[in-house]
Amino acid sequence: MLSVEEAIELWKFCVPALSIVTGKAEDPYSKKAVLPSVGEVYHWSLLYSVVKPVDVAASVLKLGSGLHVQLTFSTRVAVPCSRCLEETSLAIQAQFSYLYFLRSEKISSEEDFQVLLDSDRWPESLDLAPQIWESFILSLPPKVLCSPGCKGLCPNCGQNLNAGRCSCKEEEEDPRLAVLKLYKETF
Ligand SMILES: [Zn+2]
Ligand SMILES: [Zn+2]
Repeated sequence: MLSVEEAIELWKFCVPALSIVTGKAEDPYSKKAVLPSVGEVYHWSLLYSVVKPVDVAASVLKLGSGLHVQLTFSTRVAVPCSRCLEETSLAIQAQFSYLYFLRSEKISSEEDFQVLLDSDRWPESLDLAPQIWESFILSLPPKVLCSPGCKGLCPNCGQNLNAGRCSCKEEEEDPRLAVLKLYKETF
């Protein structure tokens, strides 16, 4: 499994920040890329296999003293169903917005995620990979079902109940009910 640093390195996605801020680049600046799959990602106590390269589109716009970045991406992951543990394929599609600011700037908007650069000048090239990684992780669902009606596993013998009933007794008799039954029988 790749470390976060390795994944971000693999997903390097640079935009010409200085040219965008100074109006030398198209406005909004757009860039698309197909980022290689990062293999497996462990999150929410689940192991997600990224089974498709990640399609990413970024739109970067000068906004006040900052840069507004809209990230759209899609991919596909395989993850165990939260009830029956069968591998389940899932399309991931999401859009996130970030506002990048220089260290010296005041942050104004509260709607977007904010990134404060550790610099007083815009760099020639700004790597958006850390934010692509962050939004990818945020878009992973904490609970995945293979189907809305998944029956899960028998808590007793572990059989996948989607494949059929197991031979365990339907329901253990509740001892409190047994007492009640006895009471009824006595009186
Ligand atoms: Zn299931
Ligand atoms: Zn069973």
